[in-house]
Amino acid sequence: MKAMVLKEICDLAENRNPLDLVDWPDPVPGEREILLRVSACGVCHTELDEIEGRTAPPRLPVVLGHQVVGRVIERGPRAEKFELGDMVGVGWFYSSCGRCPFCLKGEDNLCEDFKAAGRDVNGGYAQYMTVPEDSVFKIPDVFSAVQAAPLLCAGAIGYRSLRLTGLVDGQNLGLTGFGASAHLVIQMARRKFPGSKVFVFARSEKEREFALELGAVWAGDTEDQPPEKLQAVIDTTPAWKPIVSALKFLDRGGRLVVNAIRKEDGDKEYLLNLDYPTHLWMEKEIKSVANVARRDIREFLDLAAEIPIKPGVQEFGLEEANRALLELKERKIRGAKVLVID
Ligand SMILES: [Zn+2]
Ligand SMILES: [Zn+2]
Repeated sequence: MKAMVLKEICDLAENRNPLDLVDWPDPVPGEREILLRVSACGVCHTELDEIEGRTAPPRLPVVLGHQVVGRVIERGPRAEKFELGDMVGVGWFYSSCGRCPFCLKGEDNLCEDFKAAGRDVNGGYAQYMTVPEDSVFKIPDVFSAVQAAPLLCAGAIGYRSLRLTGLVDGQNLGLTGFGASAHLVIQMARRKFPGSKVFVFARSEKEREFALELGAVWAGDTEDQPPEKLQAVIDTTPAWKPIVSALKFLDRGGRLVVNAIRKEDGDKEYLLNLDYPTHLWMEKEIKSVANVARRDIREFLDLAAEIPIKPGVQEFGLEEANRALLELKERKIRGAKVLVID
């Protein structure tokens, strides 16, 4: 099969073509696994973290990609959950031990043995992929493969972030950054919490306009003061300044959830501006989001179909993955980027 593979960790500023198009052996489904013919695979910011080594794959070469939509074309021994031809999706969750206390209570995202698709095992930047049938989700009929792909990561992790805020209907929600995940979060927040107001902090004028179009009551620059206190904030930026700034506007007992697998070090010294009474006292909390649990993907796909959420998408061919990644790095973002493979 054709696949775009990562052979070595590198800096995208120096190597603009980190992935190579190769002929790769066709994968064969094992026990309780299915084989997918990949239709589409979303391109995620986390792939930049993998390529540049912030969350490096344990083995190279590897096929990246963890927002995979495809058709079931073969079932391994004892795999019986899906029919041939079903359109299914795979997110960042690939597998976990299934036995530890975290797995047993549905927090399989926190399992010590958590394996991510497209990092710890081969992912969807390829024509075919195998995956355990327990880690696969039926795609609701309202979505095409290309529309569904970005929902599997940005959407599902956004859903988890929103859940972790503990927001109650009527409370104010702040969003710092307004990219792929946040523009989906605002749509779910408005559906799940119709009495809540959403306030958006974004550097770019275009993102602020987009936020207002999607129903934010207020949109300002990173350090602008919103008209009301926020009971919860979700941060989706790679930087530190937006966090310190948003903590100032967080209400007593409020929680800020950081939706990022890694932060970049560019403005780390800004953390020295952290002032305990202004930013943290009064029982303010900071919580990170790690990976995504299977239940988040399942629940989110249902919610997305019900709303329905249709992400804006920019299409690329499999061979154009490097260009898509580079545009993401350079923040040339017009909707979610998706590789159309079949
Ligand atoms: Zn486990
Ligand atoms: Zn992702």
